[in-house]
Amino acid sequence: MVSATNLGFPYVGAKRELKKLVESFWSGKISEADLLSGAHQLQETHWKVQQEQGIAQIPSGDFTFYDRMLDTACNFGIAPQRYQHIQNPLEQYFAMARGLQKSATATSEKVDVPAMEMKKWFDTNYHFIVPEFEPTQKFELKTARVVEQFKRAKALGINTRPVVVGPVSFLHLGKPAKGVEEFNTLDLLPKVLPAYVELFKQLEAAGADWIQVDEPILVLDLESSVKLAFEKAYKTLSGATQLKTLLTTYFGRIDNNVFIVKDLVDGIHLDLARNPEQLEAVLPLLNDKQILSLGLVDGRNIWKNDLNKSLDLAEKAVAVLGSERVLVAPSCSLAHSPYSTAFEKKIKSENPELFSWLSYSVEKCAEVATIAKALNGGRASVQAELNANAADLESRRTSKQTTNPAVRERVAAVPAQDYKRANAFPHRREAQVKKLNLPLYPTTTIGSFPQTKDIRVARQKYTKGELSQADYDIFIKEEMKRVVEFQEKVGLDVLVHGEPERNDMVEHFGHLLHGYGFTENGWVVSYGSRCVKPPVIYGDVSRRCPMTIDEIVYAQSLTKKPMKGMLTGPVTMMKWSFIRNDIPAKDLCTQIALALRDEVVDLETAGIPCIQVDEPAIREGLPLRRQDWDAYLDWSVGCFRLSTAGVRDETQIHTHMCYSDFNDIFDAIQALDADVITIENSKSDEKLLKIFERKQYTNEIGPGLYDIHSPRVPSVEEMKTRFADMLKYLPKHLLWANPDCGLKSRGWPEVEAALINMVEVAKHFREQD
Ligand code: GLN
Ligand code: ZN
Repeated sequence: MVSATNLGFPYVGAKRELKKLVESFWSGKISEADLLSGAHQLQETHWKVQQEQGIAQIPSGDFTFYDRMLDTACNFGIAPQRYQHIQNPLEQYFAMARGLQKSATATSEKVDVPAMEMKKWFDTNYHFIVPEFEPTQKFELKTARVVEQFKRAKALGINTRPVVVGPVSFLHLGKPAKGVEEFNTLDLLPKVLPAYVELFKQLEAAGADWIQVDEPILVLDLESSVKLAFEKAYKTLSGATQLKTLLTTYFGRIDNNVFIVKDLVDGIHLDLARNPEQLEAVLPLLNDKQILSLGLVDGRNIWKNDLNKSLDLAEKAVAVLGSERVLVAPSCSLAHSPYSTAFEKKIKSENPELFSWLSYSVEKCAEVATIAKALNGGRASVQAELNANAADLESRRTSKQTTNPAVRERVAAVPAQDYKRANAFPHRREAQVKKLNLPLYPTTTIGSFPQTKDIRVARQKYTKGELSQADYDIFIKEEMKRVVEFQEKVGLDVLVHGEPERNDMVEHFGHLLHGYGFTENGWVVSYGSRCVKPPVIYGDVSRRCPMTIDEIVYAQSLTKKPMKGMLTGPVTMMKWSFIRNDIPAKDLCTQIALALRDEVVDLETAGIPCIQVDEPAIREGLPLRRQDWDAYLDWSVGCFRLSTAGVRDETQIHTHMCYSDFNDIFDAIQALDADVITIENSKSDEKLLKIFERKQYTNEIGPGLYDIHSPRVPSVEEMKTRFADMLKYLPKHLLWANPDCGLKSRGWPEVEAALINMVEVAKHFREQD
């Protein structure tokens, strides 16, 4: 029989119960015992929900209080030195996760430790805690949460499949501890394996028969040393117990890492939602006992599965392997998609058609079960489900909400010259110098000014209908006026309106565009207890109306200095949303780019001389495999250019990025051809500036002069040193002075002090000239 299985469930809970639990624990409102019993209840609920949906092999050990990589480190007793004095294991765990500050008491000393580093989990929006290892690291199995969870499920009569992070991914994704010399963390493999063997033995003794071992790095380009590590690891593990290993890969294709299949494990899971073509490649490589888990239902989005299409693929696998050796599953852990559409009451009543296209984790479990059922009993045995599914998909395919012929025609007919400014940068620069008449080292900011409590309260009242549109507009105008007057007083050269009307740089524009929807409960964990609720792009995108003209024109009317229009770029608008899967990402991005292009041109027509299009997400959109980078950069850079190239020479296009990791994508950054780029820089060393020098970046550039993540006010001296460094590498006529990023999370007093100092630095260097 084909079994329905799952790789992981949204542990945060239907209504983010886990977030509430841990946050109450952190603030001392509930005890450790309450936290544990709350967590147990949640786990029980989640196991039962999966069971009710028809999942036969349910995972355990996927539940975490903060992060599974951190759990793995703690299970093996790996706490970096600086946390070792914290006695209580749970307190130590949370200290590693989020730092800990405690003043001294009669019985204990003061504690002040920062959190460990967090990194993006592959190409998702989830961030994991990066484990730290010492060359002499000892690994010793402590109480393993996975064993405890497995036993508790068993006591409830649910025979789960325990899930662990595999040893090779665990070591490879970690890093040398602070203060120790560089070394290859994979060298620790012989030391970590005995601890894993011990863990496997405990699970075996507890009654497990299969274990799921997540090795997601298998979808990356790996050096041969990593491949050798895999061979060694899985030879050791498979010989150590009778447990059967299901090795899971997800988020991409296994490709040249397919060696792992050869007799090293008892089963393998493939992401067939992203890369269905892998099936053909892997099928012939399996030996006659190995099983294959088909990741058919996309765990990364919110759309209903095409059940018939999944069945077509699954039937191929069953034909080769027989039904005993096939599992049906979501493509990856469902922790990356929201809990259940049952809570989307608003969409259901206001846009029932859109509702009928949605499927969150609970519904995805049911889809998995339906596919398995159809494979076992024939499609006719689930005919009603298949018919309903086909009807929903057909409605999506043909709906006016998804397809706007005018948008499609425009995308299909974009002339090549629309991707290019009319003239090259040197020519444009002449026109801009004449028009803007800026001093050497012009000063500017990245866009947002403090989002004060007053602003948040006013917005809340407005959304609830307690503040009228007219009163809200007056409020926003007053905020803009205050920001413009402030910038005049401080002496900045290119001003901004301060973004008081925006709650968020993507959602705000989503409301002004056709094709975007908003969920009530579409939360997914971003890190720890923090969740995000991305907008949903379900239809062809076009502007509902001009999006920023009123605000920017008003702000410009208050000053003679140039005002900078402020937009979010096409790639970021897409990357930070749940995107539709019925058209290629490139086409979707082009639609957004065209909508933005109209806005950019309208801003120019309205007399706005500078326009900034933020693209902080371009880098994080890079595909997991190098081989795919060029194609991605080609269209993403193209979309940025399409959105900005409609203006005259004298209109100055800015862009902004919040990172400085440009090494491998420098050419793409240059290819954006923005007249000015502002980037985060204050925390990076001179490496960044060296690249711009070495590669002879040709356009204007503002590397951030100070870090905006901290309330600390940078001194004039400190910023002078930084600016002097920049002058070593960059031609002075191209250099701007600005902070690292927007100021929305800062308070007014520090913003004022910091910007006064920054302007003084620019003036100082102008006088030197
Ligand atoms: N213009 C935005 C701001 O200043 C940019 C935010 C960002 O780069 N993430 O807030
Ligand atoms: Zn930024």
